[in-house]
Amino acid sequence: MSRTAAILTAAAVLAGGSCAPASAGPQIPGIPKSKQLTEIMKRASQLRDLVITEEEEIKLGADVSERVRGRYGVVQDAAVHRYVTLVGTLLVKKSTRPNLPFRFVVLDTDGVNAFAAPGGYIHITRGALGLMVSEAELAGVLAHEISHVTEKHTISAIQKNKLVQIGAEESITKNPELWGKLVDVTSDLVMAGFGRGEEMESDRDGLAMADAAGYAAGGLREFLERLSERNKTTSGKQGLFASHPEMKERLATLDKEIKARKYASTAVLGDRYKANISYTARAVTEIATVEAGSAGLAVGTTKPAEEPKKKGFGLSTLIKPGGTEKKSAEVTGSGASRGVDTERNAKGGSVKTMVAVKVSPAELDAFRKEGNLKS
Ligand SMILES: [Zn+2]
Repeated sequence: MSRTAAILTAAAVLAGGSCAPASAGPQIPGIPKSKQLTEIMKRASQLRDLVITEEEEIKLGADVSERVRGRYGVVQDAAVHRYVTLVGTLLVKKSTRPNLPFRFVVLDTDGVNAFAAPGGYIHITRGALGLMVSEAELAGVLAHEISHVTEKHTISAIQKNKLVQIGAEESITKNPELWGKLVDVTSDLVMAGFGRGEEMESDRDGLAMADAAGYAAGGLREFLERLSERNKTTSGKQGLFASHPEMKERLATLDKEIKARKYASTAVLGDRYKANISYTARAVTEIATVEAGSAGLAVGTTKPAEEPKKKGFGLSTLIKPGGTEKKSAEVTGSGASRGVDTERNAKGGSVKTMVAVKVSPAELDAFRKEGNLKS
């Protein structure tokens, strides 16, 4: 893209429009056509890169989480949310952003997935919990997701790819159109998953976090291996994932890292996990899906400037993002047999309300001691 075209596109973003081809011509409402170009060039020259404060990041995470919850629904079970929050909070204390107010959301879907939204909104599906057999596995997955937030992977991708730019004098939070654009772009990225480098970084950070909290570092690896095994028999994209060489490479890298860092924490806590989580895993062929193409998360039209480099990494990247969105959701049976992206297109629950859980320091401490975890 030429520099001028880039500026025009950026100006179109600035004006709240979609990244339309240059021939379609960006439009700034309320300005006569003859003066549009001058105005666009003037505003483009005042563009600045997006800076997001922590307060804005948390607000952004809340709005993106609302989209994720809207798509998959929320398990309305306070006890399950409390358990996941206790494990997650112990991990956050060992992270690089221990004071960020993290929230843990259990999504009401059989699909196996996890999504980290900026500002500390961690989502994990009922299907993922059903497939796990121990608290160490849960800790491994949560620590990986927490790291995406602490390392600001999504925010950095938006900034690096200049997906949203604003005028020098403008405030992102005070311009509803720009803010909506930012929520669209972020939701798309959160759903599409991260690039290989970010996934490797979160794998590494997650291992360190889990070990520091006292969990056996093999948890993430064991879960990924089981997931890979589960998806092996399916046709289409899950099958592609299961035999993906990058998965093998990822598992080997996790092994190497555990050895090299001499991680020696031992808590697995299978019994405590089973006492708290009683979901059963569904075979990938039994998962009801929303028709491919209708399961998209964002209602916006934003396309990331750069296709996320995700090939078999991450939990949310087991399957390719769906195509264009349709408003009506057609629920069908066994999508895996037709090569549908089962996890991502899995049918969700109808209740979208967040289940708010507050754990006291005393409760957290008792939970930690009971599990012989580290302080
Ligand atoms: Zn990830």
